[in-house]
Amino acid sequence: MRWDAQALRPALTDTTAGNAPAPAADALLPLAGLVRSVSTPEFAGVTFHEVTAKSVLNKVAAGSRMPFEWTVNPYRGCSHACVYCFARKSHTYLDFDAGLDFDSQVVVKINAAEVLRKELAKPSWGHHHVALGTNTDPYQRAEGRYQLMPGIIRALADSGTPLSILTKGTLLARDIPLLKHAATQVPVGIGISLAMTDEQLSEAVEPGTPGPRARLKLVSRLRDAGLPCGVMAMPILPWLSDSDDALDSLFGSLAAAGATGVTAGALYLKPGTREWFMQWIAARHPELAGRYRRLYGTGSYASKEYREWLAGRIRYFKSRHGFYGSHGFSHRDLAGDPREEDAQYPAGSIPAARTGPGTSAGAEPAQPTLF
Ligand code: SF4
Repeated sequence: MRWDAQALRPALTDTTAGNAPAPAADALLPLAGLVRSVSTPEFAGVTFHEVTAKSVLNKVAAGSRMPFEWTVNPYRGCSHACVYCFARKSHTYLDFDAGLDFDSQVVVKINAAEVLRKELAKPSWGHHHVALGTNTDPYQRAEGRYQLMPGIIRALADSGTPLSILTKGTLLARDIPLLKHAATQVPVGIGISLAMTDEQLSEAVEPGTPGPRARLKLVSRLRDAGLPCGVMAMPILPWLSDSDDALDSLFGSLAAAGATGVTAGALYLKPGTREWFMQWIAARHPELAGRYRRLYGTGSYASKEYREWLAGRIRYFKSRHGFYGSHGFSHRDLAGDPREEDAQYPAGSIPAARTGPGTSAGAEPAQPTLF
């Protein structure tokens, strides 16, 4: 991402300016365009750093694997607090840390819609597809307070710019009428991120998000509203959400909710995320810590053997529930390896099931033999 264009420079304004709510006790550092840093009782433990941005339309770096060229991210940091979040490292560019700060120090571009409208009005704007939710979630809890997305959606649609949104936030339901209208003006893609149906696991690993049931309801509401809705089922977590029961439940629930497609893949542990996730595994699932270290080695991806095995299971359960080769969302390779579902299996073959942690059998893994 072209972070340099949004580099933060010393604020000129008083961080305690403004009437209410109360200023945060620990405004951390000078941020460019900082208006104030605030915390409120409704968002206990979270500090919002409200900034005025000079630019919000972000060009993806040349050579990136991302399937889009332009993004808008009204928030940096994300109170959804997923331990596996691949965007954690980006918070270090602001001198925050990639762990708790990412979850609790949220930068809010309060003038995002206004600035975007100006940028889209420039004669040089090529009306390329703009992706939202590529770094942090645009419908995280802060959106309930700041309500930036309606203005952003209107600015994009009114300018004739196609858009897509990826989120875990059920707050998106608020904007369904607006999205329906936008879809009459420009192509609109919507993706819901959901990779497990186990509420307890979700509560543990993505503690700030609406749970799986709530997100499934959101998929249904979008479909009932006549909008397409793909699902990004990433990351599938080795030994925690990759059992046959878990995958069957996931793809079955997505089919029942009416998802128009699903893209799924294994956990991806880039630097910044890896350290945070491994700490969490060691604390919450110490019995898996060594297995994860062996599975990921020193890299970001699970071993090829595991990924190919998982891709086969995904293909099988997708087709079982009617998702024939469909990709769920154009942001499909944001959180994992897009090659995973490309693994080839002989026609009609069903990759071997595995037993092990997270399965009803509870035995040592039988397939593949890499643990
Ligand atoms: S919702 Fe997305 S951006 Fe937010 S913490 Fe989770 S993975 Fe990261």
